[in-house]
Amino acid sequence: MKIGIIGAGLGGLFSAAILSKNHQITIYEKLPYIGGRFTNLNYKGYQLTTGALHMVPHGANGFFGQLVEQSNCGAKIINSNPDGLFRINNTNYGFEELKKLVSFKDKLKALKMLTDLKLGTIDKNMSFGTFLEGIPIAEKVGNSFTGWALSLSSYDTPIDEVIAISKHYHKFGGPGIPMGGCKGIIDALETVILKNGGKIYTNYNVDKIYVPENPGEKCSINDDNEFDILISNASPLITQKISNLKFIDNENMPIPSKGIKISIGSKNKLINHNSVVFTTESERLNGFNQPSNVDKSLAKEGHNLIMAHATQIKNNVNDEIDLVLEDIDDIFANEFVGHKKEGYKILAIQTYRDECPVNHASNGTDVKPVINDRFYLVGDGVKGKGGIEVEGVALSVLEVLAHLNK
Ligand code: FAD
Repeated sequence: MKIGIIGAGLGGLFSAAILSKNHQITIYEKLPYIGGRFTNLNYKGYQLTTGALHMVPHGANGFFGQLVEQSNCGAKIINSNPDGLFRINNTNYGFEELKKLVSFKDKLKALKMLTDLKLGTIDKNMSFGTFLEGIPIAEKVGNSFTGWALSLSSYDTPIDEVIAISKHYHKFGGPGIPMGGCKGIIDALETVILKNGGKIYTNYNVDKIYVPENPGEKCSINDDNEFDILISNASPLITQKISNLKFIDNENMPIPSKGIKISIGSKNKLINHNSVVFTTESERLNGFNQPSNVDKSLAKEGHNLIMAHATQIKNNVNDEIDLVLEDIDDIFANEFVGHKKEGYKILAIQTYRDECPVNHASNGTDVKPVINDRFYLVGDGVKGKGGIEVEGVALSVLEVLAHLNK
């Protein structure tokens, strides 16, 4: 079959790498580079990124890892250890250790909550924030987790998404970091696509998608190309705008999630492990990691790369950035792991919203990937349930592949 793909982000590239084994694939990317919000930006010897924090939520074993395997691209993901630490009162605790900080009364409350959750006797429409109310540590921990993983406050996170995330976590485990960072994955996928005879055009903006009703007619991209099937990796809203099909209305409108990323360079190691530190007590900051602990080439020689993430809560983005910078100052002024403030340098402040958000659909507001037998969507506007960021992108690709293989 001839398959046309709009967009060379992770969704488009994963689909292309796997489908190019048996089909003729052409990808059209509007930007001069491929990888979308999951590739590296070289800045003064540091590998900053167009979006992601060089982290894969369920490491080598999750949905993303399954696509890496299926595509035979050979990219390597190193699983993090520990899964993540929670910073409370200037000390870092593993998830299990948090129990020590909870009073006996709150432990009983938590037990009841967990039982209700297991038995399904909770209102599935409530937010995660509402669910956690009444146990102060749980409120802080929950909010830093949803902020880091979903770029949402706990009150904007539906409880059924958290239930699904927790099932995925118990099945696959915690995060990992790809060797070479985000671009390590993108380069590996590109190699497979080109080796299989696929074509990738950059600087090619698609402004018209046509999927005819008549099965005898071919699909087209910008009028002059003929395809059996089309897959769009552009956001669902943009895809609908440029296509002849309508699949979003007021009932299933995707709501983007906004965020702020601060990249930091430091001579000193500010974290001595390869996972996330969730900053549960910060005003805005949700957490940070140090991906150069896994792959030294992500930082300038003799230095470390730290990436900090915050959900944008209020509309004034400059005020929001100030809050995040104050949080970062507070943490390092407290000599987080024994280093003074002068030991680090802010390399870049990047903000994500509108047409370049953290997620095109925040969890719980995703559109369905299968539009009909010839037209599909992949990416972070069509994530599967409980799909954290690129795991959600991978879930959308897996659903499209399953439909095509029926
Ligand atoms: P994109 O990467 O946006 O790809 C879509 C592509 O389609 C783009 O290249 C775009 O240019 C192209 N396109 C759009 N319209 C057209 C058109 N009309 N014609 C041609 N081409 C078009 N996820 C994680 O798992 N771990 C993290 O650590 C992480 N951290 C993040 C931190 C930040 C600050 C941000 C912003 C995101 C983070 N994410 C993270 C999320 C992750 O980056 C995204 O989920 C993922 O990259 C989205 O991939 P995608 O393929 O859906 O979309």
